[in-house]
Amino acid sequence: MKAYLQVLSTGTADCPPSVILHFDSQRYMINCGEGTQRLCMQQKVRFSKLKTILFTRTHWDCIGGTPGMLLTLSDVGIRNMRLLGGENLTHAIISTRHFVYRNTMAVDTVEFTKDSGSYRDENLRITAVQVYPDNFERSLPYEWSAPPTSPNRSNSSSPSNSAAASPVPKHRDSPVTGSKRSSDELSPSTSTPVAAVEDEHPPKSDTEIRKMILEGMFNLSKSNGINAHPLANKKVKRDPRAPVPQTDVDMIEAARTVETSHTCGGAPVKLVNGRFMDLPRTTPNTSAISYICQSADYVGKFNKEAAVALGVKPGKLFGDLVNGKSVQTQSGDTVHPHQVISGGRPGRVFMVVDCPSTDYVSGVVSAKDFERFQGTGSDKLTAACIVHLGGHSVLSHPEYKAWMQRFGPETQHIIANQEYCSQKLIWRSQAQSCYKLSALDSNIFPLPYYNNTPTHVLSTDLQGLGVKADLAESMMTYLLEPSTGLERSEVIPPLELFKDHSSLKNSPKDYLREYYSLAMKAQEEIAKEKAFGPTEVPGKDVVLTALGTGSSHPSKYRNVSATIVETPKHGTFLLDTGEGTYGQMFRQFGGYRMSADQANSVDDRIKNLKGIFISHLHADHHLGIVTLIDRWNQFRTADTDPLYLIAPLKFNSFLQELSDTQDFGYQNVRYIQSEDIVHWRQLQHDHRYRIARPALMSLFETSGFKDIQTVDVIHCPWAYGISMTHKDGWKIVYSGDTRPSQNLVEAGQGATVLLHEATFEDDMEEEALKKRHSTTKEAIMVGEGMEAKHTLLTHFSQRYPKIPRFDAEGKSTIIGICFDLMSVRFGEIEYLAKFLPALEVLYSPQSDEAKEGEEEDNDAELKILQKQSQ
Ligand SMILES: [Zn+2]
Repeated sequence: MKAYLQVLSTGTADCPPSVILHFDSQRYMINCGEGTQRLCMQQKVRFSKLKTILFTRTHWDCIGGTPGMLLTLSDVGIRNMRLLGGENLTHAIISTRHFVYRNTMAVDTVEFTKDSGSYRDENLRITAVQVYPDNFERSLPYEWSAPPTSPNRSNSSSPSNSAAASPVPKHRDSPVTGSKRSSDELSPSTSTPVAAVEDEHPPKSDTEIRKMILEGMFNLSKSNGINAHPLANKKVKRDPRAPVPQTDVDMIEAARTVETSHTCGGAPVKLVNGRFMDLPRTTPNTSAISYICQSADYVGKFNKEAAVALGVKPGKLFGDLVNGKSVQTQSGDTVHPHQVISGGRPGRVFMVVDCPSTDYVSGVVSAKDFERFQGTGSDKLTAACIVHLGGHSVLSHPEYKAWMQRFGPETQHIIANQEYCSQKLIWRSQAQSCYKLSALDSNIFPLPYYNNTPTHVLSTDLQGLGVKADLAESMMTYLLEPSTGLERSEVIPPLELFKDHSSLKNSPKDYLREYYSLAMKAQEEIAKEKAFGPTEVPGKDVVLTALGTGSSHPSKYRNVSATIVETPKHGTFLLDTGEGTYGQMFRQFGGYRMSADQANSVDDRIKNLKGIFISHLHADHHLGIVTLIDRWNQFRTADTDPLYLIAPLKFNSFLQELSDTQDFGYQNVRYIQSEDIVHWRQLQHDHRYRIARPALMSLFETSGFKDIQTVDVIHCPWAYGISMTHKDGWKIVYSGDTRPSQNLVEAGQGATVLLHEATFEDDMEEEALKKRHSTTKEAIMVGEGMEAKHTLLTHFSQRYPKIPRFDAEGKSTIIGICFDLMSVRFGEIEYLAKFLPALEVLYSPQSDEAKEGEEEDNDAELKILQKQSQ
């Protein structure tokens, strides 16, 4: 048996630390923050054997990549997943139930409490050591005010989208949640069963309700079991007519028609396949769990000759001896395992220690469970390897250092924390693509920010300690069985990017040299045009940065949907925030602000964030929002303008429910319901628009916009585009995901910039129809229909590295293609067309990217994912 531990992420701004354990029968992951799935793809780590994820904290840093990961795991054919973590884990997972669900995979959760912290399976014995920060006190949940209601509310739904009629969440002002309760009553482990309305509904505890909802989100329904899954039959020849898993769109529609009434907290609530039930309340639990893992004991080597010599007959009796049973020979003698097996030993012990700050140090160093593995027990067992997730303040703490030392000189310590491991480029494919594109224009396509030098030097902090400590590196492994030791054969040296493009100019590859010369030609043409003076475009200095231009799931080249619009003097506005948006901003705008004169940094964009628009509930459009709000909240002072969120109603429920497990500052965000400001309500001065208007007015004041309307589009329930007109005379329209929409054409008339999805190429019209997306041609038609000055195409199917083909000739709108980390001023969009001849060569069939794409096309896991484009 071979078993090893592998560092996936060392901890960077775009992917918190995570570790994978490899055993023959399955893989385990420890922590799955935002970006983890994308890093698996970048590093070619396969998902198919992943069955268990452990979390050290119920905090978005540790769980933020899990909702997207669960969808992907299901799509690649995993049938059962187990999630292990602390209190509130189930609550956090089920808060995503409005957009995360599959009936091709069952998910089970195990929540460790302070008293029950062990778990065992065929490979591992796990002890969860739960540590609370000093002076931990449980807070009461926030009281959310329900959106304003009116008697007509439920009858005033949009004619084309009945979602607007969805009920206001009841649990926020239900008897269970409205009153203040003691912290004891709020703990799920001590919660009392809730009263049932009818006798035939048995009372359920909060824990049971959560489990029931989880089962509603993830289950193996008979009609969609293993045989229906496209990967299930991959060994036998696959029948091309076999059904594929339903799309989200279909599932939402189906779910909406199967409503069953259930009860929660004594108040009747709607239950749709267990998913749309309101959640019982809870409060954040800030404990951190460290895991002590021990692999199965090594039974030793079986000596056949010795067994035969003792009279044991080969066959079943041999097996019994190996399995630790004594056996009888034909002559009636008893033979014991120790007579024929030698060299047995206990399994290896390894740990992942999460000590998030110095507040946890005393808890960690005094935890009794670790002591046994510091060689103090009768078996003198020591830990083979410890992965530390703590940063500089923890590792330089004298008590923590002394505790590390007590494990002895043989224990291998691995430090996985971004203060020591530096901000290396982890999206290598994206970075290399940015380098090539920067030959076109280094301002529009800047090189991503990185730093290969750590903020703190580990050897200085651990000087004189006499411990074996190494910095984590992505793909570094620690072998556990059969022998032990660090192994770096899969580690790739950090990437360095250069401003100089001579490697393209002098490349041995024909297409790169041709690309370079076409890039130079485009630069010359643009310079000539600029010599005639700039074209007057309203909002010419407004900058649009594409942070994620891919659809469905994050890929190596394109992250999931996000765009940031920066208005001089008026701050920033985000249009969708797919998982990893903060990380993309970090790479685009530069690292944390280190000094006052370093004006341009990710922090500035976050501080100046005025609004976020979430178009619809599909998971590829918003899972990065928690990190963004959390960062914004950390910078918030008394002078900070409020942050506004425009999103569908169910999205507000998600953030409120998640806030019960982690305080990320959502109570400081002002929420505007997309359904209330939909364009036709504004035209009709509908009562719901009137209610939303005051909030909208104050948003206008801080952001400089004079009109913002959402537009109901054709995609899934509660899907919206947005039209935003600025007082400086420019207008931006964003489609969200949609089929070509007449509503959008009408609301977006005269747009300066239309940012429109173009998921599918023109020859995939049927697919576009089925999945309710647009083709390139259709997106351009919408741009022409609304007489948009510029049409930017985005949200491409992940069958990168193709670029969409289109004929710009004779079109009344100027067309551009978005790439991740492309930053373009409105006044420069017209030049994007000049880059097309060069881009066509860069992404031609003979390019490295195209060949890599072909390889991925043949990869079963990725093939399935590409088909799932939402
Ligand atoms: Zn979608």
